[in-house]
Amino acid sequence: MNHFPIFLALDGQRIVVCGGGETALAKLRLLLKTTGRITVFAALPDAAIGDLAQAGRITLVAREAGRADMRDARLVYAATDDAARDAHLAQLARAEGALVNIVDNLADSDFLTPAIVDRDPVTVAIGTEGTAPVLARTIKAELEARLPARLGTLARIAAGFRQRAEALTPGVARRSFWAEFFDQSFDQSGPRAPEQGIDGDAERVLTALLARHLDQKAAPGRVDLVGAGPGDPELLTLKARRALDRADVVIHDRLVSPEILELARREARIIPVGKTGFAASVPQHKINEMIVHHASGGNHVVRLKGGDPTVFGRLDEEIEACEAAGIAWSVVPGITAASAAVAGIGQSLTRRGRNGSVRLLTGHDMRGFAEQDWHALARPGAVAAIYMGKRSARFTQGRLMMHGADPATPLTIVENASRADQKVRATTLAGLCGPVSAVPEGVPAVILWGLAPREALAAIAIKNEEFG
Ligand code: SAH
Repeated sequence: MNHFPIFLALDGQRIVVCGGGETALAKLRLLLKTTGRITVFAALPDAAIGDLAQAGRITLVAREAGRADMRDARLVYAATDDAARDAHLAQLARAEGALVNIVDNLADSDFLTPAIVDRDPVTVAIGTEGTAPVLARTIKAELEARLPARLGTLARIAAGFRQRAEALTPGVARRSFWAEFFDQSFDQSGPRAPEQGIDGDAERVLTALLARHLDQKAAPGRVDLVGAGPGDPELLTLKARRALDRADVVIHDRLVSPEILELARREARIIPVGKTGFAASVPQHKINEMIVHHASGGNHVVRLKGGDPTVFGRLDEEIEACEAAGIAWSVVPGITAASAAVAGIGQSLTRRGRNGSVRLLTGHDMRGFAEQDWHALARPGAVAAIYMGKRSARFTQGRLMMHGADPATPLTIVENASRADQKVRATTLAGLCGPVSAVPEGVPAVILWGLAPREALAAIAIKNEEFG
């Protein structure tokens, strides 16, 4: 990111616009949203600019700007449609310490003007660092349609009530009051319902809500054990997103992708515990202690795990720790790696006439390579998803062969399922070890026993022959 977005205080500040044509006018339309003092320098201004001056909204000086005109200016726009003149004006402005924007010349500007969605005092600024103005416009149109027109009113009502809400203890108590207020104001009616903000009698609603919140004892902490899914942020559940939105503390495994952590509330404390399957880099009892410690302090803790927390996630130990400490908890399921992996190869986990059951297996457990019901797995048509199965692949292969499985049974290894760098390796029981060892260290992979990529998707798979 080269251009860091900030909101500049412009009340009463001097803003200079050089130029009197359509380019200058377009910027003026945006600048007039501010309470800055705008002066336009133009020898031959458009009529519309003259009208603005007549109406007292800007000061118009009917000549070119010189260096003295730039004095005390906070922002200067060079918008004369003449590159050489703009460059000269920019130089004068900089000499006076102003921030300069040369319209349509990003490289020589100090700042750029974003596309704006205006729900004053709520403002959304959209920038693409000059790469895709059309994209910015599309995003703007999308947000314009989604954000209720009354959003600004809502924010102003909240501002008016802020002082009274200070009766609540800062932190969780105050935040949950505001969260409930904004939720009931437009969340439930759906963001597309612009007129369904709070009623005219906002004052009454807020007073009642505040009384109820003041009545509550200091809010106790809570723990959500949340599935982050296999990696694609679009595979998060709405509940998981909401939990991330509200979290005070997020304690996450290594498997949780950075794009998903980005969705956590900005003020949330993010704590990685680097756990991958059974190989914990922070020991489990420490993780349990950490969860309990933060929740006991009144925090909303989100324990974020890759995939589904109920699948090889050591969920029970964490729930038991919460229960022992008397902390409220809930589980938010997620999409497990096996589901994402079969989706990636266009197959189902169960299929009429082929398999009426499916197994989720781990390659190793705390004692080492995990024993399974190999006899049942070796039967034709059996399907299983093997998690953490890379290191034990040779062992798994040996056991299945020993129990009479057909060496030609298909196996598919899906690494980084659902992510942009997903890779599919199609093989057979006989050829399992080559492709497994091709999966890089530290990359999550699920081995699908008894499934090959659907014909139409076979082209995306790396075939056994390619491993020599
Ligand atoms: N709770 C997780 C599993 C945790 S065990 C879930 O439901 O998915 C960790 C193992 O999950 C990894 O070793 C790998 O086998 C599998 N896994 C997790 N995410 C994966 C992904 N995006 N692609 C492939 N395998 C994945």
